[in-house]
Formats: sequence, C-alpha cells, structure tokens
Amino acid sequence: MAKYNPLSLKAEEFINDEEICATLEYAEQNKNNVELIDQILQKARPRKEGNSTVCSGLTHREASVLLACEIPEKIEEIYKIAEEIKLAFYGNRIVIFAPLYLSNYCVNGCVYCPYHMKNKHIPRKKLSQEEVKAEVIALQDMGHKRLAIESGEDPVNSPIEYILDCIKTIYSVNHKNGAIRRVNVNIAATTVENYRKLRDAGIGTYILFQETYHKKSYLELHPTGPKHDYDYHTEAMDRAMEGGIDDVGLGVLFGLEMYKYEFAGLIMHAEHLEAVHGVGPHTISVPRVKRADDIDPTSFDNSISDETFAKITACIRLAVPYTGMIISTRESEEVRSKLLRLGISQVSGGSRTSVGGYTEKERPHDTEQFDVSDQRSLDEVVHWLMQNGHIPSFCTACYREGRTGDRFMSLCKTGQILNCCHPNALMTLCEYLVDYASDETKKTGFEMIESELKKIPNEKVRKIAEQNIEDIKNSNRRDFRF
Ligand code: SAM
Repeated sequence: MAKYNPLSLKAEEFINDEEICATLEYAEQNKNNVELIDQILQKARPRKEGNSTVCSGLTHREASVLLACEIPEKIEEIYKIAEEIKLAFYGNRIVIFAPLYLSNYCVNGCVYCPYHMKNKHIPRKKLSQEEVKAEVIALQDMGHKRLAIESGEDPVNSPIEYILDCIKTIYSVNHKNGAIRRVNVNIAATTVENYRKLRDAGIGTYILFQETYHKKSYLELHPTGPKHDYDYHTEAMDRAMEGGIDDVGLGVLFGLEMYKYEFAGLIMHAEHLEAVHGVGPHTISVPRVKRADDIDPTSFDNSISDETFAKITACIRLAVPYTGMIISTRESEEVRSKLLRLGISQVSGGSRTSVGGYTEKERPHDTEQFDVSDQRSLDEVVHWLMQNGHIPSFCTACYREGRTGDRFMSLCKTGQILNCCHPNALMTLCEYLVDYASDETKKTGFEMIESELKKIPNEKVRKIAEQNIEDIKNSNRRDFRF
C-alpha cells in the first residue's frame, strides 16, 4: 500500500488516501478541543517580524481541525483571522479577470460538465483566429487586461498548436488603449513539452482544477477519455513546473465529493508543491457545481451550504496565507460579498461562459458551460467593489517583471506589496476609469484613488505614482508599473 510522502512525485503518495482519512479522524476527534484549536489559531495569526508581517500557515491536519470545529465563537475567530491575513498580504485590492472560452469540443466524459462527449444537443463551437480577435476586442472594450482561456480537451479540434495560436492572437490585439497583458490558461493536463510551449508563449498562471481528490469518485465522475487517468491529472502541476511554469492554480469543484476530504487533499497538494518545488500554488479557486445544459447540480449529493462554503474559504486563507484565492461569477453577488472579506483576492467580472459569447448582444446560452449567477457588467462589478471598500485592480505587473513563483511569494512575505502592488492597482484602476468607466464609477473611483494614494508608505514611490496617474488622465500613456 502507498505510504504518505509529500516529497514524492507519485499522486498516491502525496495525495495519500490513508493520510487524508487519518486527518479527518483526527479533526473529528479534536473538533471541540478548545486548547488545541486555540493553539492552531495562534499559529495562524499574522505577526510582526522586524519590519515585515509574516504568517506561518497551517498543516493539512491543523487546518482540518479548524474546518471540523463547530464552536460558534471559534468559527468567528477563524473569520476574523482570515480577514486579518487578507488585509496584511493583499490589502484591500481585488484583481479582476474574465474567462475566454475558445472551444467546447471535448473527448472526455466528465459527468458534471455539459461539454462531455455524449452530450449531443449542445452545439459544438471553436473560435477561428478572427473570432478570437473579435472576442478580445469586446473584452478590451469592457476594460479587461487579464484573461483566463478555457477549452475542452480534444486533440483533433483544439491541439496545443491551436491554443498557442490563440494566445499569440490575444496578445497581438491592441484596440484603442486596450491590451490583454496576462493570459492565464485553464486547459486539460498535458505533457512537460507542451507546458514548456505554454511557458514560451508567455502565459501567466496555468490553472487546472483537480475536481476531486478522492480517487474512487474521480474515476466514476470521469468515466471515459484521457481525463479518466487520475494520476496523470493529479501529477500535472509537477509536469507544469518541470516545464518552467512557475505559477500554477489549484482548485476543487465543490459539490462532487465530501468537502472535508477535498479540503485536506487541496492543502496536501499545496504542501507537496512547496516541498518539491520550493513554491506553493499561486492561486486556489473555489468553484461549486452549477446547473448547466444536461447537468442537474442536485444530482450530486455533496453540495455545500453558503455557510460551509465561507468556512472552507476562510480555512484555506489561514492554511496558505500567501496564495491568491479566486471566486468566479458562478457565485451570486451576495456570496461573493461575504467571501471577499474572508480572503478572496481575485474575481471575474462581466463573464460569459459560452464560446463566442462576448461578441453577442444578449448573453447566449447555447454553448454556455454553466449558469452564471453574477450577471452584472464589469462596470457594475467595479463600482460595487469600490463601494464595499475594495480597490479593483487590473494589474498584471508581477509576471511581466519576472516576479513569479517564489519571487512573488517573497514580495508578499516582506510586506513590500504596499509599495508595489498598491500603486500598480491604483494606476491600472485609473486607466480603467479614464478609458471605460461610466460617469458614476469614474466619480467613486477617482475619489478612491486620491485617498488610497496617501497609503503608499515610500514617499518616492508615492510621488511617481501620483505623476503617472496625472499622465494617464491627461494623455494616452498607459501601462505604468512598479
Ligand atoms: N478541459 C479542461 C480541464 O479538463 O481541466 C478545462 C476545464 S473547464 C473549461 C473549467 C472548469 O469548469 C472545470 O475544471 C470544472 O471544474 C468546471 N466545471 C465544469 N462543469 C461545471 C459545472 N456544471 N458547474 C461549475 N463548474 C463546472
């Protein structure tokens, strides 16, 4: 039988079923152990070390105890610490992105996804390069700078060469003052060689959701196609890192399996990446299964309440304090509002989950991957974020300045974010306001920029940021960054 070993490159050793089951048992036994819970909470709190604020994070066992805890005052404390960590490392900035669906051809049999091969009533569509260009112009005209490209898995219809062509096209489009400056990629697990090609194409984060860490369920939920191979899928991030991609994004599709099992697996995966590659995941996404063509989410009996969802988010925040967390428009405004306070650092806005959806006047449903709960426009999302005290950030500077992997983490850890990410957020928000925002959003935004500029601690940096913001307002000069 496989033994737990976070340093191993074998899926069954670093995501070890026996260790997950022992963790869940330990968590269950200690869920009311106030002394232990207090020790874990103390470890999770951000603390000052010299001029820096640091956080230890939690092991999968410790974090699982917090997730199992049912004592209301302790849960409140978990939420409070999650908020403190979020503010200490990410400030009040929220990075904005949009998904871009390239193709819904798929050879897999994922039972929760409408793109599954047996679904004969969904129209199959793949964007031509001209269509990619048109979608990108529509996204630039909304104000987007960062995309996550999405595609079904189909070696004939969307081979790696097609994905690479699309990335090239996306980066080549500059409509008016528009530019897509970071393309993140969410495509099926692939080879080291293909990951190297993606790295060379200048991608940001490679995102791949595990869907479920529970091997038996995984095999049932992915009955056919290349995605059926649990080990190949689970070991994908190691291949991506071997191929030179520093920033990888993990995720679980909550609702498929028992959330406590998924949570332990997710944190173990993060620990494994840190142990082997010296850098943990750049982001963790927390999608929940949604209604879609041919998919009824109630047919999965592990759906989680909004309350449990919030607790999971907060516990991830405590366990991996330096990892960005993403919530998509799968969730409603109400759920997103709550989770933003508990550690989320990136949201999508104005999203369409259909192939070619951005060039349509009305939201098309024919090729949609799932129902979008938050259907507001990007301008509405930007305005709403600011009204709730968050700075919408269109910044893409880090990977373009080579601050990926552990170099990004060290920026986070040394607290330099206020002198770097904060001014970058304000400068890119200013670009958005000048080029794309409604009058109401502009008014709120410029007021926010003025007060937030004062928070930049380094006087020299602050002066440069103020000057750049004046330049953005008065000229077509764009893309300033620290
Ligand atoms: N084909 C790639 C793969 O296999 O990883 C990309 C996946 S797909 C375009 C992006 C993600 O959407 C999937 O990883 C899955 O977690 C999620 N997804 C699929 N069906 C969904 C549904 N009904 N509700 C919510 N999310 C869903």
